Amino acid sequence: MAYDDNNVFAKILRGDIPCRKVYEDDHVLAFEDIEPKRPVHVLVIPKGKYEDATDFGENASDAEIAALHRAIARIARDSNIDGTGYRLIANTGSNGGQEVPHLHFHMLGGAPAGPMIK
Ligand code: ADP
Repeated sequence: MAYDDNNVFAKILRGDIPCRKVYEDDHVLAFEDIEPKRPVHVLVIPKGKYEDATDFGENASDAEIAALHRAIARIARDSNIDGTGYRLIANTGSNGGQEVPHLHFHMLGGAPAGPMIK
């Protein structure tokens, strides 16, 4: 499927709508989720146009993939959720419950995550 340039995270990357930025580098942007499900709820996205985890794994460069995971570790440290832990989720496709068609990792911390499947 072709990448949808009108998705909300594409608009955030273009600066068309604002976000509460947590971290940024050449390949990655991270910002607070607008409807936080835990005390810490950060979304980490590649700047490249990748629809989901499969697209990213198949088509992103090694540098992009490394940058995303390095950013997650850094945000965990900077947000002080590394010690108590956090849930890292990339909802993928319709059965995965993905609403926004631009790859994003949810980082959920600051309180216990609860059961994996509801
Ligand atoms: P779900 O909504 O089922 O968790 P996704 O995994 O696609 O599906 O997550 C989309 C996330 O994006 C949601 O947690 C939602 O609150 C968040 N979100 C939507 N619009 C914005 C926005 N403008 N800024 C920050 N977060 C947003």
